[in-house]
Amino acid sequence: MARIVMKFGGTSMAGIERIRGVAARIGREVAAGNQVAVVVSAMAGETDRLVGFCREASPLADPREYDVVVAAGEQVTAGLLAIALQAAGVPARSWLGWQLPVHSSAAHSVARIEGIETDAVVAAMARGEVAVVPGFQGVSDDNRVTTLGRGGSDTSAVALAAALKADRCDIYTDVDGVYTTDPRIVPRARKLARITYEEMLELASVGAKVLQTRSVELAMKEKVKVQVLSSFTDAPGTLVVDEDEDMERELIAGVAYDKNEAKVTLVGVPDRPGVVAAIFGPLADANVNVDMIVQNIAKGEGTTDVTFTVPRTQLPLSLDVLAKSHGDIAYAQVLSDAAVAKISVVGVGMRSHAGVAVTMFRALADRGINIQAITTSEIKVSVLISEEYVELAVRVLHSAYGLDAPEGVAA
Ligand code: ADP
Ligand code: ASP
Ligand code: MG
Repeated sequence: MARIVMKFGGTSMAGIERIRGVAARIGREVAAGNQVAVVVSAMAGETDRLVGFCREASPLADPREYDVVVAAGEQVTAGLLAIALQAAGVPARSWLGWQLPVHSSAAHSVARIEGIETDAVVAAMARGEVAVVPGFQGVSDDNRVTTLGRGGSDTSAVALAAALKADRCDIYTDVDGVYTTDPRIVPRARKLARITYEEMLELASVGAKVLQTRSVELAMKEKVKVQVLSSFTDAPGTLVVDEDEDMERELIAGVAYDKNEAKVTLVGVPDRPGVVAAIFGPLADANVNVDMIVQNIAKGEGTTDVTFTVPRTQLPLSLDVLAKSHGDIAYAQVLSDAAVAKISVVGVGMRSHAGVAVTMFRALADRGINIQAITTSEIKVSVLISEEYVELAVRVLHSAYGLDAPEGVAA
């Protein structure tokens, strides 16, 4: 007997027919003698709809009430799945975030799980009952509902698997594994049988939304065995593994893109010590997450330009902060552009191979795609380009690193 956590994403839960399909899949694991806890997402599109209501009610909605609204989508699917399981003859009940409880920080809309109490669920599972837990939600110390950030049900699942000391955490989604890039953009993307935690973490953090970044971070820390699988087929999925496990490896594990950034350029910044701190200090105080930074070499007249990226949703806030710091920075002009995208290549093979970045720069140059900013880490190179070239750039890089599946072969 194994103890497993199964997580089903929004597409898998979209409508009663699909929920019945999910119940049947869970029923097979129960029939095989396993103890099962399930984490569910809201139906596809539902969280967007709920976010839209909050924005319509007030652009400055109280974050505590925003969480009450957006957490509701998962409550509906948890209840419906428990009903579908019972109807299929599988004993089940739902456990809402406050009922377990899933303790979280009070950072509404981006809360972190701090601990999950599992005694009651463990007892229920031991009685042969499936525990259905809504993902994405927790409860703060002052007893308010919280949510974990978009895509957070993955993190709920991994945290529950860690708390339950589960043998596996199976993430069921609308693709049958982790691919060398988003298979919806590159049909010749290949499914990876295995990927290291580190590569998956880096890929998720640069935009591959198949797993939420925090879920991978947590799985790595707590040594949770994560597998990404399809809700709709029985194809073998992708295992997330430690690097030392025997793996046949490529130089590059994957290519990812992120359209959630915006570019800001401060023109004519005085080229003197302290000026960069004067720019980024107030942005940090306003909780703006600055990502890429490029400082140009000084021009003759003792001024320079500084370019950086911020999350697109934080562009208005960033421009406001910069306007207020004009007295301290004394820049000539602020330019901004939200029509940019970040493209990244990731692979642990980069540690021991030179020339990975050059391949990227050449491949983009050959297609006339201009690079506006660059950042690197030990296992990643990212470039900022115009948003209109995203799909072309991802396809070109996928080919340049030899990742394309052979012609006519479905992955
Ligand atoms: P869920 O609702 O199940 O959580 P998501 O939409 O959050 O599903 O994540 C699955 C989606 O991630 C896929 O439909 C795919 O378009 C996208 N995706 C992006 N990059 C990758 C990748 N490298 N491999 C697989 N899927 C990816
Ligand atoms: N329903 C939430 C979202 O759409 C959480 C999730 O599905 O993981 O972001
Ligand atoms: Mg998701």
